[in-house]
Amino acid sequence: MKKNCSNLPPARRQNTMPGRLRLGIAALASLAWLLASPAAAETNLKGDRIPAEGGDWILRPVNHATVMLQWKDQILCVDPVGGAQRFAGLPAPTLILVTDIHGDHLSSETLAALGGGRTPIIAPAAVREQLGGELRARTEVLAHGAKITRHGLTIEAVPAYNLAADRLQYHPKGRANGYLLTAGGKRIYLSADTEDTPEMRALENIDVAFLCMNLPYTMTVEQAASAVKAFRPKIVYPYHSRGSNLEKFKALIGTESGVEVRLRDWYGPAPAAQ
Ligand code: ZN
Repeated sequence: MKKNCSNLPPARRQNTMPGRLRLGIAALASLAWLLASPAAAETNLKGDRIPAEGGDWILRPVNHATVMLQWKDQILCVDPVGGAQRFAGLPAPTLILVTDIHGDHLSSETLAALGGGRTPIIAPAAVREQLGGELRARTEVLAHGAKITRHGLTIEAVPAYNLAADRLQYHPKGRANGYLLTAGGKRIYLSADTEDTPEMRALENIDVAFLCMNLPYTMTVEQAASAVKAFRPKIVYPYHSRGSNLEKFKALIGTESGVEVRLRDWYGPAPAAQ
């Protein structure tokens, strides 16, 4: 009988391949599977790193007002909207922060889907009132000036509201929360939808600020730049900035101030497609 590989008994066929080669092929197959699988979620967030005590902060712009942040094993998602598909491939959050009631900040469908529908939520009272059933049950209200600390990470609610008479209809004072996050010796501020309020301008020792700027809902790039010069974050990310001239914002900040302006693509393809 003519002998070829297919005629060899299974044990002998295996023995014809050196162990190392078999392991190598298995590893390559696993790698190919991981690369091909769209469901292969990151276990840690990929993004901009801010060195901090105990571990880097990792910052990941997602879309418009949606940001993910990680410190140690805590993964925060701010204003998740856009449905579960926007977060495909990203790690599940351990905590969700919602800033306001509008559709670009609050999506019951997304809150129900994200993190297997079990992630605790922090929000202002007006947001909790909008939520039904189990979403309401897992939402903790954080009032302006109040703080909570989870595993060494402190979250403080900062008022977010309009100042101009013709914009008060969008964000009346007392409803929305900006958030100040402190952990590892770093302070990260997310403005939510607001103008350059006295509370914002009085912030101190901010390492990173995510600052909104768009009309008619929030503020002009001139107001945002004026606020940055007042509270002087080390790094500022314009966000919630659709239609705004961010190059102008960057020019208004200038190089003298020492503030680093980081322009990111908040309106491009969803992260999972990148
Ligand atoms: Zn908004």
